[in-house]
Amino acid sequence: MKFLKKIFLWLLFAAVLAGLFWIFFNKFIEKDRSLLSLSAAPAALDKPCNRPLKFAIGSVDPRFNITADQVKTIAVQAADIWNKASGRQLLEYDPNAKLQIKLVYDQRQRESDAADQLNADLENLSVQKTTLDKQYGGLTQKYDQSLADFKSNLADYQKKLDSYDQEVAKWNAQGGAPPPEYDKLTHERKDLDSELKNLQSEESDLKHLADQINGIAAKENNIVSNYNSQVSTFQSEYGGSQEFEKGVFNPSQGIDIYQFRAADDLRMTIAHELGHALGMQHVQNPKSIMYYLMQDQDLKNPAPTAEDMVELKSVCKLN
Ligand SMILES: [Zn+2]
Repeated sequence: MKFLKKIFLWLLFAAVLAGLFWIFFNKFIEKDRSLLSLSAAPAALDKPCNRPLKFAIGSVDPRFNITADQVKTIAVQAADIWNKASGRQLLEYDPNAKLQIKLVYDQRQRESDAADQLNADLENLSVQKTTLDKQYGGLTQKYDQSLADFKSNLADYQKKLDSYDQEVAKWNAQGGAPPPEYDKLTHERKDLDSELKNLQSEESDLKHLADQINGIAAKENNIVSNYNSQVSTFQSEYGGSQEFEKGVFNPSQGIDIYQFRAADDLRMTIAHELGHALGMQHVQNPKSIMYYLMQDQDLKNPAPTAEDMVELKSVCKLN
């Protein structure tokens, strides 16, 4: 809504000052398109590379969870990548410099943070699942063994019971058992009763085990479906992945950083934007600092590629 209204007002404005319209509109486009359109900025620089291009740290949105001082340290490292490669002091930190590096928090970092949270949750879930799988496996094995024992004991009991019943039936047919047989049968009966009790207790243990196993399965289902719902919330909030600007250099506005995951990522992004500030344009190697996309760059040990160096030498007129 606000966006459309703006354009509408601009159109009105343009109707009055038709000639100025394009200037304003183009400015607006520039702001949004950033990098690509603004990378060719050597004209804004006073004698590029002849003296150090000074930079400062501007506002750092606290939601990035990084201090301005930490950003300064990382920015100095980023600047040194170019300084070292060229053997010249191309870039220099100066708290009063006009060129400021700012950390601007918006949907991009919000999404990135949410994705990191989701990844952390996934790792956590995976640990939980491993533990539950182990418990599940152990209990299932125990259950299978107990069930086999129970079945064998039950068959045993059944056999003894049948034999007892036959013996009783035999003596009854003869009008009753003599005292020694009667005592023996009474004793057997007691043993059978006690075995039945044991079987009942085994059966109840089995049921308890089954409940435990089902409980674990339910728990697993629960954490998995919980995670799935987090993923679908994430997808509905942030949608599919699209290329977006991690950072932007604009000759009049300085360097705005919008998103990074870790210090080395931030360092690479700042090195790229400082490259633009020096007047460098994009190069074609995905490993290059000046490649338009964060792709195959070596974040741990950042160094210019041959393509970066060709561009740097051309811009700075180095040999
Ligand atoms: Zn760029």
